[in-house]
Amino acid sequence: MKTCTKCGKEKPFDCFGKYAKDGREYYRSKCKPCLAEYTRELNLSKRMKVPCAICGKLFMKTKTTRNKRFCKDCLPRHRAEYARRDYVLLASKQRDRRRSSTMTDSYITKCLLARGFTKEQITPELITAHRALIKLKRAIKETV
Ligand SMILES: [Zn+2]
Ligand SMILES: [Zn+2]
Repeated sequence: MKTCTKCGKEKPFDCFGKYAKDGREYYRSKCKPCLAEYTRELNLSKRMKVPCAICGKLFMKTKTTRNKRFCKDCLPRHRAEYARRDYVLLASKQRDRRRSSTMTDSYITKCLLARGFTKEQITPELITAHRALIKLKRAIKETV
C-alpha cells in the first residue's frame, strides 16, 4: 500500500503509475486519478481563456495562436476588415492628393477664365471665393 500525496488516501500499488529513473522503477507520488486531474489542471492553466476583442466570447489562447485578441471565428473577419480599412485609407489619401493639386491658384484661374472672366477681373478674393465654392460643391456631392 502507498499513500497518495494529493488525496492523502492509502491505495494499493497498482493504483499508482510507475516511472523509471537511474535504471530503477519508482511509483509516482500521486495515484492515477489524482495524477490525471493534476495534469489536466496544469494544461488548463497553460492554455488560458481570454475574451475576444470583437465578440467578447472566451477563447483558448494557445502558444500557436499568433493573434491573441480575436477568437478563431472573428479572426478572418478582422483580417478582412483590416485589409479593407487600409485600402479605404489609401484611396482617400490619393483622392486628397489629387484634390489639392486641383486647388492651386492657377487651376482656379483657369476655371474662372473658362467661365468667361477676364484676367483683370480675377482677384485673389475671387480665387478664394471660387475655391470655397468648389469645396462646397464637392462636399455636397459626397454627402448625397
Ligand atoms: Zn490520490
Ligand atoms: Zn470573436
